[in-house]
Order: sequence, then C-alpha cells, then structure tokens
Amino acid sequence: MKKISLRKKAEETIKARGNKYASLSSEQLQLLVHELQVHEIELELQNEALRETQEALESSRMQIELSRNRYVDLYDFSPLAYLTIDATGKIIEANLSTEKLLGMTRNALLKKSLTHFMRREEADHLYLGLQEIKERGSLELRMHRNDDTSFYGHLEILSIPGEGNEKQYRVALQDITQRKQAEENLQIAARIFETSPAGITITDADGNIIRTNRAFTTVTGYSQKEVIGKNSRLLKSDRQDKQFYQKMWQKLTESGIWEGEICNRRKNGELYIEWLSITTLRGRDNKVSHHIGSFYDITLRKRNEEKVQYLAHFDSLTGLPNRTLFNDELSRRVARTAQNHQHLALLYLDFDHFKEINDELGHPEGDHFLQNAAQRIKQCMRPSDLLARLSGDEFCIIVSALDDQSLVLHVVSQITEKIVEALRFPMELEGGTVTQSVSIGIAIYPQDAEKIADLVKYADLAMYEAKQQEGGAYIFFSREMNRNLMHQLNLKKDLKSAFKSDEFFLCYQPQIDFQGRIRGFEALLRWKHPKKGILRPSSFIDVLEAMDLINDIGQWALRTACAQASRWRQQGLKDFKVAVNLSPHQLMKDTLPSVIDKALHDNGLDGKYLELEITESLMIKDPSRAARLLEEITGQGIEIALDDFGTGYSSLIYLRRFPIKTIKIDQSFVRDITRDENDAILVKTIISMGKNLGMHIVAEGVETEAQKDFLRKNSCEILQGHYYAKPMPEEAINQWIAERQTWPE
Ligand code: C2E
Ligand code: MG
Ligand code: MG
Repeated sequence: MKKISLRKKAEETIKARGNKYASLSSEQLQLLVHELQVHEIELELQNEALRETQEALESSRMQIELSRNRYVDLYDFSPLAYLTIDATGKIIEANLSTEKLLGMTRNALLKKSLTHFMRREEADHLYLGLQEIKERGSLELRMHRNDDTSFYGHLEILSIPGEGNEKQYRVALQDITQRKQAEENLQIAARIFETSPAGITITDADGNIIRTNRAFTTVTGYSQKEVIGKNSRLLKSDRQDKQFYQKMWQKLTESGIWEGEICNRRKNGELYIEWLSITTLRGRDNKVSHHIGSFYDITLRKRNEEKVQYLAHFDSLTGLPNRTLFNDELSRRVARTAQNHQHLALLYLDFDHFKEINDELGHPEGDHFLQNAAQRIKQCMRPSDLLARLSGDEFCIIVSALDDQSLVLHVVSQITEKIVEALRFPMELEGGTVTQSVSIGIAIYPQDAEKIADLVKYADLAMYEAKQQEGGAYIFFSREMNRNLMHQLNLKKDLKSAFKSDEFFLCYQPQIDFQGRIRGFEALLRWKHPKKGILRPSSFIDVLEAMDLINDIGQWALRTACAQASRWRQQGLKDFKVAVNLSPHQLMKDTLPSVIDKALHDNGLDGKYLELEITESLMIKDPSRAARLLEEITGQGIEIALDDFGTGYSSLIYLRRFPIKTIKIDQSFVRDITRDENDAILVKTIISMGKNLGMHIVAEGVETEAQKDFLRKNSCEILQGHYYAKPMPEEAINQWIAERQTWPE
C-alpha cells in the first residue's frame, strides 16, 4: 500500500518537474532504474524496520498500561490510606482506604485539604512538618474523620517533585489510635505505680524483687536499686512466727490473694506496721509468674488508735482506768466471781473536803493532790485489785477472787484501814500542806447485790453513810441502808405527785419584838400527806433538796408567802415581814432575782415586806455568785436573814461579805440556855457580836418563859417559838393575829 502510493507520488513529482531523464541513454536509464530498485529495496527494508519498531512499541505500551493498572489496583486497594498532597495539604490523589479512613468519597476528597481533617494547631504541625521534610519523614497528628470522630494519625511522608517548583508529598496515613491509647494507658499505669500512696513491690514467683515504687522507698527506706534482685524477706521482722507465713502462703496459693497486718523492719532497723495485700499473677501455663504486694504504713494510725483507746479507757490525770473501763472490768470480774463461786468487794471512795483544796489552792494543786492520793491508794491494794477514778474525787476499788466471807472482811478491812492511814499523812502541795480524810463505802457481791448496778449503788450509799462520820471512815453496806434508799426513792416519787396535786401549804409562825409587837412571820412548808397526815420539812427536805423539784416548790412558797403578805397588807397589818426560807439550789440560779421580783410585782407588794432566810452552806457553795445575787436581791428592798446561826461555819467573813441584816440563833442553843452554861455564853456572845455588827438578832425555838427572860435580859430583840405561837396555817394565823395585835410583855 505504501509502496504504490510512494510510486504514484514519485511519478507525479516527475511530471511536475518535467522529465529531466528524457535525454538519458538507455544505458543510463538502466543504471538509474537499478539505482531506483536499490532505493526501493532500501525503503522496503526501512519500512520493515519501522513496522517492527512500531510493533515493539505497541507491545511495550500495552505492557506499561498493564502495569499501570496493576499499580492503580494496588494503590487503590491497599489497606493503607495513600494520598498525595501538595505543600498546602491539598489532596491531589487518594486511594480507597483514604476514602474509608476519612469517611469521604474520593471525588469529595480531591476538593479538600488534608487539614480539613484536623484542628488548627494540628494543621500548623502538618505545615511545619511538610516544610522540614527533605526526602521522607513522618508525623503523628490528632485528626478527625468527616463525621467528627477523632483518631490518631501516623503520616509516613515521601517528598516528590510536583509541577514546576512545587513539591508534592506522597502520604501513607495510618490510624494508630489503639496503639496510642495503649501507650497512654501504659504511661498512666506507670505513673500510678510510681505515685501510688501505697508502697508496691513486684516480685517473681520466688519473691525476688523486680520493681518497687516511690512509696516503697519512703516507707522502707530502701531505694529501688538497693532491693532489685533481692528477696522480699529482706524486710522481714521477727515479729511474725513461721506459722503466720505458712498460713499466708497457703491462702495465697489457694485464692491468689492475701491481706493482713504485718510488722516489718525498715532499712534503719525500725519496726513498722503495714497493711499488706498480696496478689498472685499466673502466666499462660497457669504457673505463678509474679507477686504484687501493695502496702500502707499504718504504724501512726495504730499508735493513734492505741492513744484513743487509752483516752477512752483511762483517766488522763491519774492514768487510772476511767468509769468506762471500770464498768467493763466490774462486769468481767463479777462474771468470773460467779463462775468460781467466790466473792467480790466494791469499795467506793470519796474525799471529805476535796472541794476546799480546789477552792483554796486552785485546780492545779487539786489535780496534784488527786495524783498523789491515787498513788497512795494504789500502794495499799493487792496487785490483782483494780483502782479506777470515776469522776472528780470519786474512786472505786474492785477487790476480787475472795474465797469466803471471812476472807472478804479480812482483806477489805485491811485495804481500807491502810488507805485511811495512808491518807492521814499530810501531803505537801505547792500552796501548802493538806490532809484529807476519805470516806469509803463497801458493798459485797453476791450477798449485798447480784446486779452490778445495785452493787455500785450500794457501795455509793455506804460511802454516804461513812461521810456522816468524822473524817476517814469506812462502812459496809447494810440492808438498813437499802431500806433508806428505797424509802428515798419512794419519797421522791411521792413528792413529785404531791406537788402536782397541791398537797403543799405554808404555815406561818410569828416573830415578836421587844414591845411584844408582831415583827413578822416565818413561812414554813407543810405537806398534807394523804395517808400520813401533815408532815414537817424534816421528814422530806433532805430528799427534796436533792431534786430539781426544790426549785419549783421554792418558787411556789415565795409566790404564796407574797400573796399572803399582800392580803395582810390589805387587812391593815403594818410594819411586818414575811420570812421565806431559801434552798441553796435556789441561790445557785441566776433567775432568782427576777423570780422574786415577779412574786412581789404580781402581788403588788413592796420588797420591804419580804425577808429571805438563807443558811451558811448556801453561801459556801459559790460565795462570789451568792454575794452577787444577794446584792441584787437586797437592791429591791428585801432583807436577808442568816438562819440557824451557830450550827455551820458561823464565819465572821460571811457576815461581812454578804448583805445580811438579821442573824437567827439556832434553836439548839436556845433550848439549853437556862441549863447549859456554855450555850448561855455562846448565845450571849452571838447577840453582842451581832449587835456590834449592826444586825438584828432573832432567837428561834423559844419555848419557855425562862428562855424568853434570858434572851430579853441579854437584849435579844426578836423572839420566835412555841412560847408565843406554833406555826399555823392561814386561817389559824389570821385568827391569832386578830386576837393578839400586840403581845403583852
Ligand atoms: P428553820 O428555818 O430554822 O425553821 C424553824 C423551825 O423551827 C421550824 O421547823 C419551826 O416549826 C421550828 N420551831 C419554831 N418554834 C419552835 C419551838 O419553839 N420549838 C421547836 N422545837 N421548834 C420550833 P419546821 O417547820 O419543821 O422547818 C424545819 C426546817 O425546814 C426549817 O428550819 C427550814 O430550814 C426548812 N424549811 C421550812 N420551810 C421551808 C421552805 O419553804 N423552803 C425551804 N427551802 N426550807 C424550808
Ligand atoms: Mg428559817
Ligand atoms: Mg432556823
């Protein structure tokens, strides 16, 4: 085909140029034809070569196409995300895995930059990273997919020449989130391990230490370096025996975990207590591979616990067991005594005037006294007996394991006598030398009481009995005392209901002056008992004083007496006073002045009609408070009389210190003035002393004319007693007043 067209072309060319070969000879023509044939063959040969080349080319082109397709397939279907980006991150090419990884079709990807899949600061990292890459490099960036789920990307980057001067980058992108998390977890675990407040020891199966942490070093004093490779026995103290460790290993083998308290030794030799948990780790072959021990140093906590235990059970001043421990011990010892059919004695001790030491020498000296006294008492006891401090100056001794009753008497008497004797020796304190007697009450188990509470109560009761005697006495509990106790309990109950049912009333006993005139009336409490008839205070006042009810009854007496005085005022009685007895408890209450004020105010009564009778015991309890309250009360025009003078301390200091207007000479002195010279002198002295102090003097319990005469002769201005009138209830006293406005001398 080509040959023909070439020939044709050649002929046409000849024609066009004009036949320059027309003049040629046939010889020349033959030569020319030959030459032409040679050319023709040459051309044919050339053509052949060309065709072959073309064919070769075609085949290699197909080869290339094939391998390109293979490459594209490999590229596309590679499980790794491959993409090409330019220097700005723009995606030029991306394979199918990139599509999958980034959650966007390839077409869409080709419009995006790789930075679309990362936050700004990460994009900056990418730019910088690309700039720094010469040939190849790698980056790790936090990225997110198109749906915003994040992942850690590892970019393996190959720099390739792009169009012009632009660089392009082939990027193999891998999601390494899992690896990163695992790394992070490892880091966290390592950090926890290191910073854990618990000391941690990791050992191999044989207990050789592989790793320890910081707290381990803090507690034990050993650095990790010092202990690695060494056996954990290194910390062992000799405080646990073989058995302990055997049990521990047995438990570990059985359950893979052991927990408990253990005493170990620090590097410096010091012992410490730790709370240790050991866990066993097993390998795939189920053989023990490691032990992990984690422990806390609880030495301090233990010590504090012991301290708390100590404080809860021991008295901090004397170091003796306190009431709690005493109760526990008593129960324990009583139970044992019962079991062994033995006897037990309980001694209740109370110092007779401990308050005075506190008041006069101050509390620190009071404390010193108690400490010394506790020591002295301890020395008088058998080692097996228990001394406890229950409160203030109250102590108890448990004397146990006594086989028979005669031994009880023998041992207990011996101990108590020794104690009384030991305390008789004066004690040197900073403020001076003191001697304190002690009263001891004794109750025996089981004969006196089988119940522990009763036993304590009876010993206490016996102690109160002992207190009634002169310094340093001990008394065994008796049934009689118990009867008294029962009587007191019943009385308390009855008193409460009596007040509720209005069984109390006041009687009034007149006080008569020099001129035979009524100077006033003393209001005296009476109880109209439903069964026993009218009762005087002597049969109940002591019990009442020990009850809060005394305050209510005292207030009621005040109101009732003021109401009576008000009525007398209205009836025209002049210049008189109603004297009301105050209980010490009432004077301990700061509300007293307002209570009095109200009683006066409610009855429209002036304070000058009211006199309050107090006793010295009332002032001694808390002198400064009593003085303050009395000053306040007298400010309302009320006068104060000191009752039963001569029976108490009869201290001149009190007479000066308190605003006392009247002294009442106790009837026990008046009773015998005509018979007993001493009493006569005493009464005379009281009268003249009182007068010198500018006070009024009242003599109470005047029963006879002789007594009256003696008193009058000795200038006792006011008299009170059966000689003139007995205490009378309202109606009777009103009649008495009506009959005798004045009393003839
Ligand atoms: P006190 O205040 O010394 O009262 C005088 C006591 O002597 C009264 O006893 C009275 O009845 C009695 N008495 C009066 N004249 C004679 C007499 O000529 N011969 C004899 N033997 N006794 C005479 P009472 O009423 O039994 O009161 C006893 C004590 O009870 C009182 O002694 C007083 O301390 C207390 N008391 C009485 N009433 C009250 C009260 O309302 N409150 C308080 N807190 N105590 C009261
Ligand atoms: Mg009185
Ligand atoms: Mg009196």
